[in-house]
Amino acid sequence: MSTTEIKAFFESLHQHKKYVLEAGLLVGGIPEEQLFNHDASKFMEAEYPHYARQFHGDRGDPHGFALAWLHHIHHNPHHWQHWVFPDGYASAGSRSEGGVMPMPERYLREMVADWLGASLAYTGSWDMSPWLNRHLAEMKLHSETRTMLAEVLASLGYRSADGSPHLTLLDWSKYPEHR
Ligand SMILES: [Zn+2]
Repeated sequence: MSTTEIKAFFESLHQHKKYVLEAGLLVGGIPEEQLFNHDASKFMEAEYPHYARQFHGDRGDPHGFALAWLHHIHHNPHHWQHWVFPDGYASAGSRSEGGVMPMPERYLREMVADWLGASLAYTGSWDMSPWLNRHLAEMKLHSETRTMLAEVLASLGYRSADGSPHLTLLDWSKYPEHR
């Protein structure tokens, strides 16, 4: 890993944390300490060099990056994958839906802040509806999580114009500036 890669990832990780903090304060309901620690595991040896190489270097170790991403999901409850049993574990009396567990609200909110922060970084806009409409359906979410997510997105101005799952950012009043 070159110094340039190390520095470039350091910059982008800090930028991401700044955007997620900004987004998280808009989303609300996330303890501040949790927001400050967003993606802290990316500073660990198990993730940092792999992310640096994958996003700022030659992408020369896809297997290493896959292991880093797995490490990230296992250590970060703000990813929906964190709450899914790969073997479909759903014992009687648990609320598991075919191996999918409900996400605690504060982590669901951090997940949304993460998406908003990424939208700001990649598109320069708070409007993440194109990304949402491409990816929402493929996420394995507990029914309670899906209901709560719809409420959080509605509170952020995302509406379905025609009753379909297709979302549009119609209300910009929560955002500091229209971008
Ligand atoms: Zn993350």
